[in-house]
Amino acid sequence: MEAIQFPATPRMLANARIHVSLSPGLNAVVDSEGFALVDIAVEGGKVAAMGERPRGTPLPAGAVDLAGGIVLPTFVDSHTHIDKGHIWPRRPNPDGSFMGALTSVGEDRVARWSAGDVARRMDFSLRCAYAHGTSALRTHLDSIAPQDAISWPVFEEMRERWKGRIDLQAACLVGIESYRDRAFLASLGKRVANAKGVLGAVTYMLPDLEELLDAVFRTAMDHGLDLDFHADETGDLSAVSLRKIAEAALWNGFEGKILVGHCCALSRQPDIEVLDTLDKVAKAGIAIVSLPMCNLYLQDRRHDGTTPRWRGVTLLHEMSARGIPVAVASDNTRDPFYAYGDLDMLEVYRMATRILHFDHPVADWPTAVTSAPADIMRLPGAGTLFAGGPADFVVFRGRSWTELLSRPESDRIVVRDGKSIERSIPDYAELDDLMG
Ligand SMILES: [Zn+2]
Repeated sequence: MEAIQFPATPRMLANARIHVSLSPGLNAVVDSEGFALVDIAVEGGKVAAMGERPRGTPLPAGAVDLAGGIVLPTFVDSHTHIDKGHIWPRRPNPDGSFMGALTSVGEDRVARWSAGDVARRMDFSLRCAYAHGTSALRTHLDSIAPQDAISWPVFEEMRERWKGRIDLQAACLVGIESYRDRAFLASLGKRVANAKGVLGAVTYMLPDLEELLDAVFRTAMDHGLDLDFHADETGDLSAVSLRKIAEAALWNGFEGKILVGHCCALSRQPDIEVLDTLDKVAKAGIAIVSLPMCNLYLQDRRHDGTTPRWRGVTLLHEMSARGIPVAVASDNTRDPFYAYGDLDMLEVYRMATRILHFDHPVADWPTAVTSAPADIMRLPGAGTLFAGGPADFVVFRGRSWTELLSRPESDRIVVRDGKSIERSIPDYAELDDLMG
């Protein structure tokens, strides 16, 4: 196949297919898949103009003819763990289970996560994400002492180094039971606030969960922090911490943003309970991120020679129907929680389409990897394509959803600030010396 001839600084892209869900307010004819065929003028790092060319009008002079190839805004990855990424070769998951993941990562963290180790693996992950077309990313940072004092300064330096290429955010990650030590919660809250981060925790069905959640909400309110939880990442029917988070948000009158990841158990619970939970989630203004690849890997993992019967994902369709903002994201990459992955949001969207049925109709599901997480992360305008907005987009060969999602699109073109970037995906061998 011939490579697309693409200039370093494109001025005019002709015959681009853009999706109506990602260009609100666009005045153009839309096909049955939600695509409009437009020309995109780029100037000074911005989309100068975007619209249909009248029928029969010749291509503008110097235009690059995309021949109907899809152009998506750059991706927003709202839930990752780049502090854990790529440790698989030295610390595999012994049996593919959740407990196996937790134990293996814990051992690796204590033994190996120096500032240098974390920084090199983070930078590797970010180069992958950037090359695949991601422009904003939130990572969780394992923050149990003494790791908080190691990883947060590394993250802050990384955020500075990647400024202008990837907008980086971090949320602290600890089991919520650690916050029984209120002094630890207070000091971590302060650290997160100083680093302009997001306060986070993993919630479990502990007897004192409500009390712990209250303490977390109060700390967030004291510092003006947003919240990000891992909740109910299990098939256990009795796991209802998502509902507890919603109740805590309501009775604390919390006004910041709340993102909750996973919520796998929800899809195993009886409808009557599920609907009550979702009503509270909607009322509390909580957004949900599903992590389909990691869920597929860890949930319903069996060790008795039988086949998994459950895909692990949460109820995104029911949530979306209630107006709950929903996203999908990468989660772990090549660590004991997920043996695979490369922070490629096209792969995440492709997998989500298949696992969660983001099709027939596609509707506005493309927002789940673009504008919806951008809003959750308070990045106005990110993940959309509009005249006057930044020229940050990805040019694909596929001209329809079936073409886009059937091949890896490894030769996609990533345009940032109006310039096509050099897409260099790092070689795994770079990290070999850390894996001994
Ligand atoms: Zn996670």
